Amino acid sequence: MSNRRVARILREVAELLELEDVAFKPRAYRRAAEAVESCATDVDELVREGRLGELPGVGKAISEKIEEIVHTGRLAYHDELRKKLPVDLYALTQVEGIGVRTAKRLYEGLGVRNVADLERAAREGKIRRLPGMGERSEARILRGLAEVRGTEDRILLWYALNTARALCRKLEDTGLFTRLAYAGSLRRGRATVGDVDLLGVSSQPEQAARAFVELPEVGQVLARGGKRASVRLSEGLQVDLRLVPESSFGAAMQYFTGSKEHNVRLRERAVGRGLKLNEYGLFDETGAAVAGSDEEGIYSQLGLLYVPPELREDQGEIQAAERGDLPELVQTRDILGDLHLHTNWSDGEVTMEEIARAARQRGFRYIAITDHFLFSETVGGVTADDLRRQLDEVARLNEELDGFHILSGVEANILADGGLDVPRELLRRLDLVIGSVHSRFRTAKKVMTERLLRAVDDEAMDVLGHPTGRLIGERAAYEADWDEVFSRAAKTGTALEINANPQRLDLRSGLVRRAVEAGARLIIGTDAHAEPHLDFMELGVVTARRGWAQAKHVLNTLSVEGLLAARKRGRS
Ligand SMILES: [Zn+2]
Ligand SMILES: [Zn+2]
Repeated sequence: MSNRRVARILREVAELLELEDVAFKPRAYRRAAEAVESCATDVDELVREGRLGELPGVGKAISEKIEEIVHTGRLAYHDELRKKLPVDLYALTQVEGIGVRTAKRLYEGLGVRNVADLERAAREGKIRRLPGMGERSEARILRGLAEVRGTEDRILLWYALNTARALCRKLEDTGLFTRLAYAGSLRRGRATVGDVDLLGVSSQPEQAARAFVELPEVGQVLARGGKRASVRLSEGLQVDLRLVPESSFGAAMQYFTGSKEHNVRLRERAVGRGLKLNEYGLFDETGAAVAGSDEEGIYSQLGLLYVPPELREDQGEIQAAERGDLPELVQTRDILGDLHLHTNWSDGEVTMEEIARAARQRGFRYIAITDHFLFSETVGGVTADDLRRQLDEVARLNEELDGFHILSGVEANILADGGLDVPRELLRRLDLVIGSVHSRFRTAKKVMTERLLRAVDDEAMDVLGHPTGRLIGERAAYEADWDEVFSRAAKTGTALEINANPQRLDLRSGLVRRAVEAGARLIIGTDAHAEPHLDFMELGVVTARRGWAQAKHVLNTLSVEGLLAARKRGRS
């Protein structure tokens, strides 16, 4: 039983209790959920050793509930509460625009029990007719549905990316492949991935396919033909390999990269020009191939600029490619520094010097140390005194690390009223102040919007950290009027973070695009708590690219001097 699953049940109990307007209890369950979630030890172990009482905020009553979950996999009290609202609350509240109260309204008004019911009701235009809902809420739910669809069986981009790369390296080492690459939503950089599609070219396709199914990572061979094989890895991920002729490699990459919607548009465009596009190539009326070995040839024969995979979602990219004004998307090599890092002064694993040296080794020119300000004993954080001592340590290290720059900073907590919890005098002395919401996620949209607007208005807060609070597969984004937040951020010069942690990728790409359109500026931070996390930067960049962001929109593409001048407190 993972901590995450236990926390999920406790949190649902809190939500169900809230619906009944029970006082205090929901908070107790929510606090317990947070304690379980942020606890580094497996809850199974705590139960075995009788140490549940060590979790802050977990009293005897909730301890017993946790034991029941660990022993039986469920909680009778939870089941009983659910009888009153017999819906898949967890899946429904993953959809942006749906909180517990809305789920209840949808169930009572329309009998919506699960995501499939929800989708049907939204498509049939029934949701807008419910009291308190309207066309806008319905449209938002439809957009939310598009985002969560299928995420249940999907895995995080970071894991899929590393697995695909490792497999490709091993296959390349066999010497049997002249070309090999991954396609699909993995190549488009979606935050979660269903399965992995590999495409290869080999002069000995039979041996190449055999080498693939015989990889030690393979748990089960699902299908096998001369030019295709499909396997499930021991860890569960499905991987398909297709072997294609060299002359079709580009067409196959284009076809299997998708998205479906993008490809439909592209095929229509081909037909309009008397051509035929499929996974084998682009052909004229006589059946002669006019392109196929590379993707660039296909786009150019269709009168389009090459469309980067991250943009292939039928969101206006084909029209832009036709007009010749696709954005020059930000790239990983444009990023000169990481602006969101934790050290062992708070809940990170490394010293300031270690993370600085690791960042320099990766080619960064600067970093900002942004430890958590002490918030709760569970998570741990720096105190005002610690921050003062950190300033001295930063100064000392900056002398030592010639040519590399450490910025002092903090990740302050945005309190329920939108204020920051770090003393003003300190905020003024630090180089970079990130403000993040770490508590009270479940509030009404209006309340959350006001809270964020007040934080964005704070002249001391340079960056709004992981703005929507989502944790993929675990916690939905909280609701706020994002367009209002973005336009206020643009006006005040507050940067919005794209948090590159694989489970966050927050802002997500759809919101990145709206933020950029509103004129707001971005930073990308890894939120590293250990050295390897610095590599997450790539994911943040992919998310920025999916949101059509260019280097000029991202502040950490600037030199350290440029950054200090461009951050909110550097202006004016
Ligand atoms: Zn945070
Ligand atoms: Zn953080």
